[in-house]
Order: sequence, then C-alpha cells, then structure tokens
Amino acid sequence: ATPLALMVGTGRGAAMGVLIKGPEVLESTRKVDTIVLDKTGTVTTGQMTLIDVVVDGDTSKDEALRLVGALENASEHPIAQAIARAAEQRVGDLPEVESFENVEGQGVQGVVDGYAVVAGRESLLADWSQPLSAELTEAKLTAERRGQTAIAAGWDGAARALLVVADAIKPTSAEAISQLRELGLTPILLTGDNETVARSVAAEVGIAEVIAEVLPKDKVEVVRRLQGDGKIVAMVGDGINDAAALAQADLGLAMGTGTDVAMEAGDLTLVRGDLRAAVDAIRLSRRTLGTIK
Ligand code: ADP
Ligand code: MG
Repeated sequence: ATPLALMVGTGRGAAMGVLIKGPEVLESTRKVDTIVLDKTGTVTTGQMTLIDVVVDGDTSKDEALRLVGALENASEHPIAQAIARAAEQRVGDLPEVESFENVEGQGVQGVVDGYAVVAGRESLLADWSQPLSAELTEAKLTAERRGQTAIAAGWDGAARALLVVADAIKPTSAEAISQLRELGLTPILLTGDNETVARSVAAEVGIAEVIAEVLPKDKVEVVRRLQGDGKIVAMVGDGINDAAALAQADLGLAMGTGTDVAMEAGDLTLVRGDLRAAVDAIRLSRRTLGTIK
C-alpha cells in the first residue's frame, strides 16, 4: 500500500465526516459483504417518545405513570427516559425507588411506594408470574405491528399496564440501505427489541433479514456466527449494548452521535449521525484502494 494514497483517503474521509482509526482499516472495508445494523439509535433516531398508556381493570393511567415513571427514572435506557419524562409532565415529582435493579436487555425492577414494580419485556413479567390480560396483549400486538415498542408493567402481584413507546426511523436510513445494497452488501437488522417491531422497521427501510430479541451480551455472538459462515461483516452501532459486537466485526462503524465506548470499539467513526456516512466510508475506501493498486 502506498502511504500517500492512504493519507489522501483518510483526509477525504475526515472531510466527509468519517474518521478512520488507521490505514489498515481500509483493506477490510473493501472485502465486506454483510452489514449488520443495530436498530435503536442507528437505523432509528433512538429518541423515544411515550405515545400511549393502556391500563387494565381499575388501574388509573396516573397511577401507572407514577409507579413506572419513578422506576424508569432510575434507568438511563432511552425507553426509560422517555417514560420518566412523560410521567413527570403528567403527575409531577416522582417518588424514590428502592432496591432498583436493571435487568439488561429485559427491563427494570424496584420498589416504589411500597409496591414491587417491574417494567420491560413481557418475558420479564412472566418471570414474576404476571401474565398480560387479553386486553393488554391485544394492545401490545397492535403497537408492535406498527413498529412501536410496548413496555409491560406490573405491581402488586399482577400485570397492570402497557406503555407504548415510539422511535422515529431516521429519514436517511432507507436511502442509505438501498445504496449499501447497490454496493453489494447484504443488510441485516439486529436488535434486542421484539421480532414484530423489528420486522416492521426492517420493512420500512428495505431490509429483508432480521435478527431480533438478542440480549446485549449475545450481539457479539451474532457477528461471530456470521463470520463463522464465511461472511466478512461490517457492524454499525451507537455503542449502547453493541460495543463488543462493533469490536468483533471485521469493520466496526461507530455512530458519532453514540457513546464514547462505540468510538473506541469502532474502526471508523461516522461523525454524521446518519447511515449515509457508512455508504460514503465504504465507497471512499474502495476508491482509495483502487488508486493504490
Ligand atoms: P436495542 O437492541 O433496541 O438497543 P435493548 O437491548 O436495549 O434494545 O433492550 C431490549 C428490550 O428490553 C427493549 O425493547 C425493552 O423491551 C426492554 N428494556 C430494556 N431496558 C428497559 C427499560 N429500562 N425499561 C423497560 N424496558 C426495557
Ligand atoms: Mg441499542
């Protein structure tokens, strides 16, 4: 490789908002055939909004917001922050949480106002023997078919509410994904979120392959498995739950809007917070290597 050509490549990258860790990275970029895209914060904005609260029987929405809002206030997850902010707006100051516990990739639990409260995936409530009623199940399925995430919540021994959270797809994602395809890459959507939600988002941006309901610690295994199948894998993520997968990928692309961990784990940092920067990075490296050869 000619160092000069590589420097030109990295310099141009910086101008496009792509920071490259080292010249050797460009070589792996050229061979990539599969691109794994984390859903939340990468394909979508990751900025969640609480759009609906569905309650069971004699539970009031204010009570649900007070208890679940207080619980989520102790979590930094984007879903949690959306719920806590909306709860504060509607019911005012939130009570303190005791014995708070974050169950990674599943939800949260703790004691609020003397109640043991749990919020998260349906399976987490099932662990507490708190199955969703038919009414809550119906609301959950409706939300998921729309690509919205439904957080189930239970306290005082039963599932009592469903909090529906929506995350907007970045307006540039569909175009970028179609260009990645034109470059010969197969896109795969990877998420800890539910399968129905993931399929709905994937369909909207033109991704056929979905790997859903993956726990944060297992995302790296998904990348390894693809590599085991002979794929050369690029992974794009924001570092929330996916830093290890970014590091494992043949090419880790960190969203610049994400966490510092992501930027350390990634080979390329996409300073622009949109997927078109990934397209630029791959095009640029192919062009640069073409010059070198
Ligand atoms: P993603 O892969 O989309 O970044 P995560 O792995 O962070 O998602 O979370 C997976 C799922 O676990 C979420 O869709 C949600 O259902 C549940 N979850 C995680 N953290 C929380 C929380 N603080 N409150 C409620 N639900 C949560
Ligand atoms: Mg994430």
